Amino acid sequence: MLLLAVLLPPAATLVWLGAQLLEQDRVVLEQRELERRQAVGEAVAAELRRLISSAEQGLDKGAASAGLARFVFRADRLAIAPSRRVLWTPAPRQLPHADDHIFAEAERFEREGTGDPAVARYRSLARSSDPSIRAGALRRIARIHWRERRFDKALDTYRALAELRDVSDLDMPADLYARRSICDVFHATGNQTELERCAARLEQDLFASTWSIDRNTWELAIDNLERWREAAIVIPQERQVFTVLADMLWREFRGRDGAFRDSSSRLIDVAGTPVTLFSSTSGAQVSVIAALPPALEAWSTDAVRGAIADDARLALLAPAGTSLAGTAAPAGTPVVSIRSSDSGLPWNLSLHSDKWVHAGEQFAYRRRLLLGGLASILLLLLGGSYFLWRVVQRELAISRLQTDFVAAVSHEFRTPLTSLRHVTELLDEDDQMSADRRRSFYDVYRRNIERLHQLVESLLDFARMEAGKKPYDRTPLDAAALATYVVAEFDRHEGACASRFTLDVSAASGLQLRGDREALANALRNLLDNAVKYSPDGQPVDVVVAAHPDGVSFTVRDHGLGIARHERQAIFQRFVRGKQAIALGIKGTGLGLAMVAHIARAHDGTVEVESEEGKGSTFRLILPASVASSDAAPHYELA
Ligand code: ADP
Repeated sequence: MLLLAVLLPPAATLVWLGAQLLEQDRVVLEQRELERRQAVGEAVAAELRRLISSAEQGLDKGAASAGLARFVFRADRLAIAPSRRVLWTPAPRQLPHADDHIFAEAERFEREGTGDPAVARYRSLARSSDPSIRAGALRRIARIHWRERRFDKALDTYRALAELRDVSDLDMPADLYARRSICDVFHATGNQTELERCAARLEQDLFASTWSIDRNTWELAIDNLERWREAAIVIPQERQVFTVLADMLWREFRGRDGAFRDSSSRLIDVAGTPVTLFSSTSGAQVSVIAALPPALEAWSTDAVRGAIADDARLALLAPAGTSLAGTAAPAGTPVVSIRSSDSGLPWNLSLHSDKWVHAGEQFAYRRRLLLGGLASILLLLLGGSYFLWRVVQRELAISRLQTDFVAAVSHEFRTPLTSLRHVTELLDEDDQMSADRRRSFYDVYRRNIERLHQLVESLLDFARMEAGKKPYDRTPLDAAALATYVVAEFDRHEGACASRFTLDVSAASGLQLRGDREALANALRNLLDNAVKYSPDGQPVDVVVAAHPDGVSFTVRDHGLGIARHERQAIFQRFVRGKQAIALGIKGTGLGLAMVAHIARAHDGTVEVESEEGKGSTFRLILPASVASSDAAPHYELA
């Protein structure tokens, strides 16, 4: 109880401290993890900004990254880089074209049906140094040939016209007009092979943005191609989006007198495709970079790689939360969110990582470690305390035993000393004492002195034994003779008229052993002494010597008090005395059986006890037998 009371406060404190430590550890771990993720998020955002600006520079230098285009608006001009991002432009390049009145006279001939003078007139114009006049003249000559169904000539003229660059006629580039017309000629003449080839080349050049054309021209050309091919022309979605975007922005730019709503970045929807715009104004020029999902996709992976946050995944989100590009975090995953207002980017960023999920596991691991440590400390504390308790208990028991021993020894000494004093006084008082009486007194003297002598001897013997200083002989002994000697000697000392002992050595004839005669006799003597002492009603004691599987057994059986079960082992320890023995005031020091056990061990033997309380005890001293030799054991003379 006391131990528990002493132990409980430190144990509870330890547990409380452990819990506090755990909680603090969790908070610190979470905080550190949060800071780490935040730092990763910031690095990724910075890398994104860098990627955008390097894409901008790339566009300046003419690089064409997927999903990116730059629109530069200036007064009535729109430049698109790369130019092939759009199909047509709301602000096509203005090309020089010839005035109609130059051809007025020839056209009059043409209308009047006088073809040749008209052709002659046009031909002279077709030699003009002005390419736009040449273009107008050639187109009109070809028209006449066409009408007159002189297709070869029309074809040649159109081919000549197709050679002219950067002049416009009929509101479109003259060479485009010529190329279209060539195809038309093949179509009209049913020359399918040439038509195929011509249409394919035209389509290729149209899609390569060879010409800066407006929407009508584009649609007309596509209509023609579809008619000749008799199949729909597939237009890539991205180019359609960029084209519609260019138109939208142009209208906005023009509608607002050359200024956009905001000069930074924004997200718009173009034909169902989310487009991110980055605008910048310098002087009268407004530059807009448009990024479509493929560009965003590339940025989201490159930003993570560039920020060396390889274990993270980035998603670019629209303000409404829809994902524009990247990998969205699975539900329940911890994410780092960076709002567009904080990063200056047009998207909200959401960063996650599979490894971040394990932050909790890391904590769980540390918690297990800490709890394990705590449990070990507690265990150690408990174990240590128990050990201490055991040591204290043992020390207490030993000191109690020693006190009992001192009391017992004093008592042992006091009894003979008291009778010696008494006899001395009697002798002193009576000078006339008869010789018989005097002799009986001397007898008392002798017995008491003998008893004191034995007591001192046995104490010294025990002390020597304990110190391991007692030497033991190893002489051959006859078991039966040894027992007979000790019993006879005991009877003689007791001075009883009839022996209490029955000695049975019938099964011991020839049983030999090697040992210290005096020590073994002493051991037997102790057993006999106890048998007599603890049989207060004078019951007989049986002594049997017989062969035993382990050698020779000396059995001493009494019919006395018996020994409580729980004391049967302890009585072989020094100073230990039975409760009943003490209660009944039977004299003793608690050393007898300890000596017997010691002697038995020294002879490689054992001593054991069987007992029944109130009915008696049987002590058995078992010693190893030795092979009998011719010079057998000596017989003991009874003194
Ligand atoms: P002592 O006899 O001096 O007390 P021992 O070491 O000889 O010391 O015996 C230890 C205890 O064992 C005794 O106090 C007694 O309680 C018990 N004991 C020994 N022999 C017997 C016996 N034959 N019958 C009953 N109790 C015995």
